[in-house]
Amino acid sequence: MISVEEALARILAHITPLAPVRVPLSEADGLVLAEDVISVENIPPFANSAMDGFALRSQDSQADNGQPARLQVIGSIPAGYVAEHAIEPGTAMRIMTGAPVPAGADAVIQVELTHSEGRESAWVEILQEVAPGNNIRPAGDDIQQGQKVLTQGTEIRGWEIGLLATLGYATVPVIRRPRVAILGTGDEIIDVDEALQPGKIRNSNSYLLEAAIRHAGGEPHRLGVARDTVESLREKFSAALSHDLIITSGGVSVGDFDLVKDIMREQGQVDFWRINMRPGKPVAFGQIGGVPLLGLPGNPVSSAVTFQLFGCPVIRKLLGHTRLVKPQVEVVVEDGVQDRVMRRHYVRAHVAWNGTAFIAQTTGPQGSHIMTSLLNANALLIVPEGGVEIHPGERTQAMMLDWPEVNL
Ligand code: AMP
Ligand code: MG
Repeated sequence: MISVEEALARILAHITPLAPVRVPLSEADGLVLAEDVISVENIPPFANSAMDGFALRSQDSQADNGQPARLQVIGSIPAGYVAEHAIEPGTAMRIMTGAPVPAGADAVIQVELTHSEGRESAWVEILQEVAPGNNIRPAGDDIQQGQKVLTQGTEIRGWEIGLLATLGYATVPVIRRPRVAILGTGDEIIDVDEALQPGKIRNSNSYLLEAAIRHAGGEPHRLGVARDTVESLREKFSAALSHDLIITSGGVSVGDFDLVKDIMREQGQVDFWRINMRPGKPVAFGQIGGVPLLGLPGNPVSSAVTFQLFGCPVIRKLLGHTRLVKPQVEVVVEDGVQDRVMRRHYVRAHVAWNGTAFIAQTTGPQGSHIMTSLLNANALLIVPEGGVEIHPGERTQAMMLDWPEVNL
């Protein structure tokens, strides 16, 4: 049996980022930029006013013997329009925030520092002297033409999208989303809209994984449930081969009908199939037909936890991310962990900051069939290998599931 760390390293060694595509700007959120973004324009594209006020020549703002300068108002420039004439000595123009500064003007004085007779006033008094450049946002003040604004490999979020919109990127070069095939296995598995029958249970894994894959940035495709026969598995696997990643649940342990590894050996290879952890010892990794295959355990909690530990980083690496894993923090385990497990134990827990420390409470019984203990769990406590007990109030590391990923 290999350690969690070795398993993840061996899996990621086989994963490379997918090819770039262009997507509409509004679909780029969360994706990774595939090229540097170099601006072909100055931003702002033209010198404009930072205030509602009056454009003028700064030298005309000087008071004369204590009397404020009085200028003739020769026009008004709303945002979106260019003044038709220039500012001459002794004149000013009303100007709105974002409107282009007219020729001849080298400053804007905000309306609060002026006196006039309102919107139609033919004159304005300047109540304070202004320096050249006052309240003017020069062309290129934010971004110079030719400047590199975003670097290849950047994760695109709202702020990046704002910049890309400013630069006119209606479509964005990104690493495409992986298409992920989801396969259930098991003669006992029926679909969610079917009534329970003796011996049968509903397919929770495929739906849980579908949501988790989408959340991780993948494009999930549920391909149904294979029966526990070699023929049924072969048929389902052949439909899965057109994907970038195959994720199965169930059928990877040591039971008579755990046939997933057999098909992997027949059509590809198994790299490993056991990890020294609980929940989720039986996790198989390998490939069929060149497509990486992650065989998760059937027990719902095991498949959920192992997807988090191994599936998410794989999807993120395919997407071109470099931050692949959830961060860990030290927590105080208020109620302790009594089960002594020889394998590395991932315990569902809720962690909250109490102003001084992160405090963890486990979320209930930790059997790998107890799905309700996933509810309210925002962390996995990491209890080291070797049958360690954590007494109430002792500390351990927790993997924070709601926090953004960090580097490995
Ligand atoms: P297996 O690894 O195939 O022996 O499955 C282990 C346990 O997980 C068994 O109790 C299965 O019934 C259960 N199981 C397998 N697949 C699913 C599924 N898709 N949804 C819910 N439970 C499942
Ligand atoms: Mg099974």
